[in-house]
Amino acid sequence: MRNSGVAMISVDEAQRIVLSHTHVMSLEKVDLLTSLGRVIGEEIIAPFNIPPWNNSAMDGYAVRFDDIKNASFDKPTTLKVIEELPAGFLPKNQVGPMQATHIMTGAPIPPGADSVVRKEDTSFSGDNVYILAPPNKGENIRLAGENVMRGEKVIQARTVIRPPHIGMLASFSKSFIAVYQVPTVAILSTGDELIDIDEEGDSSKIINSNTYSLAAQVKECGAVPLMLGIARDDKREILAKITQGLSADVMLTTGGVSVGEYDFVKDVLEDIGGELKFWNVAMRPGKPTAFGLVADKLIFGLPGNPVSCMVCFEQFVRPALLKKMGHTHLFRSQIEAVLVDDVKTKKDLRFFIRVRLGFREGVLCATTTGDQGSGILKSMIQANGLMVVTEDKKEIKAGEKVRVQVLDHIFELENH
Ligand code: AMP
Ligand code: MG
Repeated sequence: MRNSGVAMISVDEAQRIVLSHTHVMSLEKVDLLTSLGRVIGEEIIAPFNIPPWNNSAMDGYAVRFDDIKNASFDKPTTLKVIEELPAGFLPKNQVGPMQATHIMTGAPIPPGADSVVRKEDTSFSGDNVYILAPPNKGENIRLAGENVMRGEKVIQARTVIRPPHIGMLASFSKSFIAVYQVPTVAILSTGDELIDIDEEGDSSKIINSNTYSLAAQVKECGAVPLMLGIARDDKREILAKITQGLSADVMLTTGGVSVGEYDFVKDVLEDIGGELKFWNVAMRPGKPTAFGLVADKLIFGLPGNPVSCMVCFEQFVRPALLKKMGHTHLFRSQIEAVLVDDVKTKKDLRFFIRVRLGFREGVLCATTTGDQGSGILKSMIQANGLMVVTEDKKEIKAGEKVRVQVLDHIFELENH
C-alpha cells in the first residue's frame, strides 16, 4: 500500500506502536567507571559484610563499659593502655579488666572491649588513660554489616548506575559490570535547501541545524549519534544514505516526510522493503512524523522544522532509545504547574507548548516562551518544559492547572 489514505493516529497510539517494536539490547561488560549512567543488567548481592568487623567510629579508647561506667571528671577511672591500634591493623590483645586499647577511627574493636570512649573525654599520662566521662554502652562502635550484610540484595537489575552505586560496586571489588548496550543512531537531514555548517551557499540556502540538535539529543540520552550529513530531495540520494544508515541500530531522518512534491522519505522506505507503521500523528508541532521498520531496525522520519523535529524526538525517539538501553522509566516526568498566560490550541490535536517553569511566591508556574512557530528554536532554548495540552481542549486560560513535561530540572526560584 502506498502511503496516502491512512488516518492520523494519536500520540499515545504512536508511542505504543513505537515501543511495541522496540527491543532491549544485549548486555556487555564495561569497566566500573564506564558503567556510570548506564543500566545494569545484573542483580548485585553483597558478597560479604561491610564493614567486615565491628570498628571504632572515633579516635579514643576501646574499653569494657562495666569498668568505666561510673567515671566522671571529678572521679576519673584509670585504665592501663595495652596497645595502640591504627586503622588498617588487627588487634593483637584482648582488653582485660581495667585495660584499654588506644584505637583510631576505622580500626577493628579488640576482643573484650564493648564501647569506645572519645579521646576528648580522656586524659593520659604514661601508660595510663583517665576516663573523664563514660559513653553509653556500645557507643562509638560501627557494627559489622551495618552498611550491608552478606547476601543482601543491594542493586536490582535495570537500575541506572549513579555515583553511590559506583562506590558500592567498588567496595565489592567489582571492576567490570554487565550493562545494556547503547544503540548507534544514524542521522540524515534531507532537503535541497540545506547546506552544512562549514559550507558556503547562496542566499537561497539554509544551514542544516537539525542534524546537530538531534545528535545532541541522542547524546543526552546516552546513545551514540552517527552523522550522515545531507541528502538532496532526490530519491536515489536518499536511498543511498538510508542504506548506509541501516548499519546503525536506529535511523533518524529529518525533512521530506510531508505531502510536498519533493517529500520522498516515505517512498524510499517503502521501496527498500520497509514497513511504514505510521506517518501522521495528531500533534502540533510534529504532525508529519513517520515511523517504520526495515528488517528489525527502527526508522523515524522526523519533520524538517527544527522545533517539530526536536519535539518528535522527545515524544517518540527518546523513549525508544531509553527502552533499548534497558531503562524502565521511559518518559519525561510530568509536573503540575499554574499557567501564566492564555494559550489557544485546536481540538483533536495534542499540543506541546514551550514553557518556562519557575516558582512565583512558592507556586510552580509555567510561562510560554514566546512565538510557538515550529521553526522558532529560540523559544525552545528558553523553555525548560513542554506543556501538554490534550486533544479535548481548544484553549487554556491563565490560572488553570496544566501538565508539563520537564526537560530540565533546574527551576528558577525567583520571578520569571
Ligand atoms: P520539510 O519537512 O522538508 O518540508 O522541511 C520543513 C522546513 O524545515 C524547511 O522549509 C526548512 O526551513 C526546515 N528544515 C528542514 N530541514 C532542516 C534542517 N536539517 N535544518 C534546519 N532546518 C531544516
Ligand atoms: Mg524538505
